[in-house]
Amino acid sequence: MSSNARDGLRAAIRDVADFPKAGIIFKDITPILSDGKLFRASIDLFLERCRDKQIDKIVGIDARGFLFGSAVAYELAVGFVPIRKKGKLPYKTNRAAYTLEYGEAEMEMHIDAITPGERIVLVDDLLATGGTSASAATLIRKMGGDLLEAQFLIELEFLHGREKLAPTPIVSFLKY
Ligand code: AMP
Repeated sequence: MSSNARDGLRAAIRDVADFPKAGIIFKDITPILSDGKLFRASIDLFLERCRDKQIDKIVGIDARGFLFGSAVAYELAVGFVPIRKKGKLPYKTNRAAYTLEYGEAEMEMHIDAITPGERIVLVDDLLATGGTSASAATLIRKMGGDLLEAQFLIELEFLHGREKLAPTPIVSFLKY
């Protein structure tokens, strides 16, 4: 991936001040999604990191992790597993609580979504404080998944989310 492609992605991300609450600068990735070339370029970043890892499943985090994660899973022809906010999944779930940059919540995964020993990559749009992805990592490991790496389009480095996710290997493509 050329640095030009990354620059194009970076330029498309829209900062929205005070959303969803005062003091948060929300990184809006919808301009990437709505541009065919940019959307493809963003998926290619994930794919480059996923090839040669013998991945069994991609786990995506509600909701923007679904957009990137499912496209990556499709291209790799591997399964996709959604981790969702509490109350959204229809079948029996495992649960983990977490704190968000702007609130608190619980994440859930279906109890049969991962078979022990499966090689997993976790995908989300953005790493902020790391609470969400740390709870996702907990769920994956609780179910016996072999979590190879957590991948993010964007990382807000000043929030030190990496520390919360340790020792899970992390990659992010656009750092702020
Ligand atoms: P955290 O648990 O703090 O790492 O928050 C990460 C999750 O919240 C991701 O699923 C993001 O989509 C979302 N998120 C947190 N902060 C922001 C932000 N400043 N801009 C966009 N999305 C965010």
